[in-house]
Amino acid sequence: MSDPTRPPGPRIIAIANQKGGVGKTTTTINLAAALVEQGKRVLIVDLDPQGNASTGLGIGIEARKFSAYDLILEEAPLTTVIQQSGIRNLWICPATSDLSSADMDLVSNEKRSFLLHDALRQIDIDAYSLDYVLIDCPPSLSQLTINAMVAAHSVLVPLQAEFFALEGLSQLMLTVREVRQAANADLRIEGVVLTMYDVRNNLSQQVEADARGNLGDLVFRTMIPRNVRVSEAPSYAMPVLHYDSSSRGAEAYRALARELVARHQSSRKGSGL
Ligand code: ADP
Ligand code: MG
Repeated sequence: MSDPTRPPGPRIIAIANQKGGVGKTTTTINLAAALVEQGKRVLIVDLDPQGNASTGLGIGIEARKFSAYDLILEEAPLTTVIQQSGIRNLWICPATSDLSSADMDLVSNEKRSFLLHDALRQIDIDAYSLDYVLIDCPPSLSQLTINAMVAAHSVLVPLQAEFFALEGLSQLMLTVREVRQAANADLRIEGVVLTMYDVRNNLSQQVEADARGNLGDLVFRTMIPRNVRVSEAPSYAMPVLHYDSSSRGAEAYRALARELVARHQSSRKGSGL
């Protein structure tokens, strides 16, 4: 379906939070799988040197001939570094551990913040007719995360429903503002999604109330429950939607994908907050 308000090309979303273990990679993999299920064509760019998104989709280290490092630092064309995942209409640009030196390797590069942006604007991307590009960021506000924010239309923030969840969010928002000023004026906040939510836990409810109180509509209605099937799925190299299709985790990621797509189809295109 054509959407006259949507710019041509895929919507590029950086999935970012400088805290580790909050559900960035889990959200990247499962939101991607849910979008694919809903008829979209999706590319995941794994920017975390740990490569968990690559592993979680069954791309073993031996199969990572080219990686996001080559894309960003060696100017390898997108078509060379992208692989088809085991899932139709889902592609991945894997990560390798050499990404961990990217910050240092980029220090003297004048275009250091724009390299991923330039790589994703290549004419090659047209060949895949992608609807979404999801960038799984490392747990830091490093140069790689900056590259993701410069390349992206929006930032989606997974927030673990745990004590201190909102701490660190102001630093993240400050970085978003800096990126807007320096490089990407149109960068939006796609939304904040509560992850590992436990309805029986007062703390989860308190974090939800705080998040909604402070961030309002920026917080997705959909919350991702803590669900053991979600945490088991990566060791079977599958999204939870394929590992246990009727699990609560799978249903939640389907709902998140629907909410995300609906937000784009409405006039609201993410907040400038
Ligand atoms: P990040 O990428 O932010 O470091 P991950 O997505 O790797 O975080 O998640 C951290 C850990 O929490 C992983 O072991 C993952 O399997 C687990 N996890 C993430 N989301 C859920 C969930 N909804 N229910 C249960 N475990 C989860
Ligand atoms: Mg991760």
